[in-house]
Amino acid sequence: MKIPVVELSDCIVCGVCVEACPEVFRLNNAGYIEVRDLKSFPQAEVNEAVKHCPADCIFWQEE
Ligand code: SF4
Repeated sequence: MKIPVVELSDCIVCGVCVEACPEVFRLNNAGYIEVRDLKSFPQAEVNEAVKHCPADCIFWQEE
């Protein structure tokens, strides 16, 4: 399965991914972006987030 991953060291916490795809990305209490624990991920919405992430730090990883 492919899962989206956020490279936190590059993330500037701009919130674009959360806006583009709140069913996958969330801001956690520690102030970091988190990928929700889902069985499957909506590819088109995640790709929107990938495309618009200003830090280019979201990518797909094969599990
Ligand atoms: S869009 Fe990219 S830089 Fe912005 S919060 Fe999401 S992962 Fe971080």
